[in-house]
Amino acid sequence: MSLSFDPASPNFRSGHFIAGEFVADEPQMAMHRPSDGAEFAGCPIADADTVDRAVRAAGQALKQSGWGTCRPRERTNALLKWADLIETNAEDLARLETVPSTRLISQTFAGDIAVTAEQIRFFAELADKEGGDVVPTASSQLGLIVTEPYGVVGAITPWNFPISMAGWKLAPALAAGNAVVLKPSELTPFSTLRMAELSVAAGIPEGLVNIVLGDGPVTGNALTGHPNIAKVSFTGSTRAGSAIMANIARTGIKPMTLELGGKSPQIVFADADVALAADCISRSILFNGGQACVAGSRIIVHASIAEALIKALKEKTVGLLPGPAWKEETTYSPIISQTQRTRIQGLVDAAVGDGAEVMFGGQPLDRPGYFYAPTLLTNVNQQSTAIREEIFGPVMTLQTFETDEEAFALADHPTYGLAAGLYTRDMGRALKSLNAIEAGTIWINRYGRSRDHILPTGGYKSSGIGKDLGREAYQANRRSKSVLIDL
Ligand code: NAD
Repeated sequence: MSLSFDPASPNFRSGHFIAGEFVADEPQMAMHRPSDGAEFAGCPIADADTVDRAVRAAGQALKQSGWGTCRPRERTNALLKWADLIETNAEDLARLETVPSTRLISQTFAGDIAVTAEQIRFFAELADKEGGDVVPTASSQLGLIVTEPYGVVGAITPWNFPISMAGWKLAPALAAGNAVVLKPSELTPFSTLRMAELSVAAGIPEGLVNIVLGDGPVTGNALTGHPNIAKVSFTGSTRAGSAIMANIARTGIKPMTLELGGKSPQIVFADADVALAADCISRSILFNGGQACVAGSRIIVHASIAEALIKALKEKTVGLLPGPAWKEETTYSPIISQTQRTRIQGLVDAAVGDGAEVMFGGQPLDRPGYFYAPTLLTNVNQQSTAIREEIFGPVMTLQTFETDEEAFALADHPTYGLAAGLYTRDMGRALKSLNAIEAGTIWINRYGRSRDHILPTGGYKSSGIGKDLGREAYQANRRSKSVLIDL
């Protein structure tokens, strides 16, 4: 069966999902398909009243359902059913995901949807396994650390992996006994809405998963500043993360998890397997058109093998098939919007103005949609915006080094510390490098996450606060209470 489909066929609904019901709302923002630029739908903007309605619905649902206080295995069972339903509705979800976004149908169907179901199962299984503690005290006393859910969690997700990011937020929060009000990106809300509908079909009580559609300044601000939102869980840019911190500081203190931007280095030592490094590097920057927070966009290579690596990277761009995301044969994603493609060109032009050399790419692709050519810049000044700013496109910079210390100095970014890649055949050198690199994740002789959801993900420096995935994400959705009893 072919996965290709007609992009007009999915049901793009304009509205919110509150208390288990779809709430229609007038579209206010036109939406364009990145694959061909066509306007295809619109997104409403939930105002403060609508956000308040969703937050109240979440609070009531928590009270009435006993979700946060029931036997945890009951939550596990409901979440496992939800994961099953997500898998059986994979085709529908994949289509809703693919049209507005940069995700290709071949990847969403077999990848994003399946992985999201798997991650929901991972967190479902933590619900009756992660708990508090009995701590050492005098024998005349009993000291306990008990944990409990926060209440209503406010979650906000970006457009680049819409359903996976919704899963990262919803699954640990629900497994830990909370209700959620989630605002997906205004560019890609439809798969998240459908996922929420499926939660009710799976038996998760109505009102535990609420979705409000809208932008950052109106809807996002109302959500993070709402007094009954007990905790905020955000994935998006560092700029928006700062605005959210400021809003929370202004409206009332509450904990937050922030998964933010990156500008991740990949160091290729002289003893590396160049073919392997080229394969991993090119996949890391070509996947989703380089629009991944962990895109390994800064290549730092030993001078002795730089030429061989550049040649191998160029070869990896041959045979890519740009095209509509809804065609099964497409292998190369568009950029999310015209605005973002223009920004990418501006950053490339500025680097070239500063003396950078374009080894390949450096321009949009001449075809419908917002495609940009895979690009490699060399001779890039360490102060250049191409090094300092997250480009969020298929653009790599390449710098050379002679000593390991030089490599670490180049890798060290003033702002970001999300991930890093190391390529070497010397495991001693790789392990010694771990301490020299400030990043929340380090991949050695590979680049990118596996399906081991136990490994948390999160950034150092301005790349974030706290973790998604792993036990840490579950624990971040519960708070602890210390209890001391005189016996
Ligand atoms: P963005 O920050 O523009 O938007 C993300 C979400 O935040 C959207 O839903 C948006 O409407 C909302 N938002 C924007 N301003 C807000 C505000 N002031 N208050 C509340 N909500 C607000 O990011 P984007 O362009 O959608 O996504 C790309 C960014 O996300 C990149 O920087 C990327 O690195 C980052 N990202 C990080 C991770 C991670 O795990 N660290 C994962 C995916 C994406």
